[in-house]
Amino acid sequence: MRLYNSLGRKLEKFESVQDKKVTMYSCGPTVYDYAHIGNFRSFLNSDLLRRFLEFKGYDVHHVMNITDVGHLTEDDFAEDKMIVASRRIKAGIKEAKKQGKTDFLSNPNDPYEIAAFYADAFINDAKLLNIKVADESETNMPRATNTIAGMQSMISKLLENGSAYVAEDKAVYFDVSTFKNYGELSGNSLDDLKSGAGGRVEDETQSIKKHPADFLLWKPDTKHIMKWDSPWGVGYPGWHIECSVMAKEALGCNVIDIHTGGEDLVFPHHECEIAQSCASSGEDRFANFWIHTRFLLVDGKKMSKSKGNFYTARDVLEGRATGSPVEADVLRFELLKTHYRQNANFTAKGITDSASNIKKIKDTVSRLQQEHAEIGDQSQINTIESKLTKDFESALDEDLNVSEAIASILGSLKNLKTSDDLKSLLRVVSVLGINTQGLASKEKTSSFPDNILSLVAKLNSARGSKDYNASDAIRDELVELGYEVRISAQGAEVKKK
Ligand code: AMP
Ligand code: ZN
Repeated sequence: MRLYNSLGRKLEKFESVQDKKVTMYSCGPTVYDYAHIGNFRSFLNSDLLRRFLEFKGYDVHHVMNITDVGHLTEDDFAEDKMIVASRRIKAGIKEAKKQGKTDFLSNPNDPYEIAAFYADAFINDAKLLNIKVADESETNMPRATNTIAGMQSMISKLLENGSAYVAEDKAVYFDVSTFKNYGELSGNSLDDLKSGAGGRVEDETQSIKKHPADFLLWKPDTKHIMKWDSPWGVGYPGWHIECSVMAKEALGCNVIDIHTGGEDLVFPHHECEIAQSCASSGEDRFANFWIHTRFLLVDGKKMSKSKGNFYTARDVLEGRATGSPVEADVLRFELLKTHYRQNANFTAKGITDSASNIKKIKDTVSRLQQEHAEIGDQSQINTIESKLTKDFESALDEDLNVSEAIASILGSLKNLKTSDDLKSLLRVVSVLGINTQGLASKEKTSSFPDNILSLVAKLNSARGSKDYNASDAIRDELVELGYEVRISAQGAEVKKK
């Protein structure tokens, strides 16, 4: 398998540090709002890579953090994003109250409550989109707010070994001139960065720091909206240190196999992660492979609230983006179908095409399941080899060529007949994360208690009358009661968690 490694900017044969084991870290969402479909494009590509490595027999330990203090970047001396979020939520509640609705946060001034609310919403959306790591949330989705002690000990180590310093403003900065590989990932040189290249924002710290590219590790600020005690005063950590620490703690090693994120994270975030991690561990590498997903566009344009083309996953699933509800499998497929190193373009036409391809795949699975009622145990599915599995594998082996892999599935559907064909199809489709469970014998909703059935009916009726605030509230109620809610064009379906 070859992957394009941003570190070195070339295709490289993938090899893991430990035989048949992969450690993989993905920068997760910043939780001051719902994640948008661009974020999900990045997260889904990481999930595809994970699933494909598992297909190839690797035991993958995948960690994706939740950045619940991620608004605290070194350039963020303007207005804290949690304050902006709090204001937005309060305005939303005021509007909802005018319409006689109830609000969703008991204290919209509490940044911890805001972060917890959007973290839950993210995990819910990620589960709907079948992102595996979201099902392992406790262990594999660490939160920055739970990792402050680890950040402080890494900062202490960096101070001790001379990689960091306390500046005049009492803040702790990483000293980039002490790290010889600073700039290797992004292709920036310290001289370029000194003269303002590399997209850095000028701020008042430039005159205090030894080098303009030195970045914040700890900022003392007793008035900040989220703050912790520390040897450098009450304050908050820099943005980059979170990921270095969460990757190390959750994966239990200093050198990981794969690190992923969207293209905008190459610089400064990942460049700074490398500097901190290597300077504190003494290793030459932090991650052996750096994989970056290009941005998703909407109708060929950058997503932006002012253009009105900014969509969250739930906007799409609930029909607010394209005019009618979209099945989670269809959105997943649409966001995955373009190679990760090309910009993807979200369009209504794309959704229609993806819906038709998902239908073709599911219809074939249903047909084969009816013809072969008993398909044997799962272990057979996971190892079966056929022309389809080989074509699919060789496409993804070449830097995750997903469009060719999808073409190999679609091109084979008509010819699939035997129970082995069914096993092959299920095997490849599970790498794409398409949900094929229960296609032949759908779980009957009537097996649920009356109160649940009545909530599902109310949810469908609220959605029918486009009252999405009400349908969201009912969905949250069902989730509270221990049910997973899946929304599709056919309406809501629930499953006991
Ligand atoms: P954030 O919540 O802003 O930290 O972003 C979470 C992830 O989404 C990061 O890996 C970003 O690089 C990625 N991302 C942000 N916008 C887009 C986009 N339009 N397309 C693809 N990935 C994106
Ligand atoms: Zn990160």
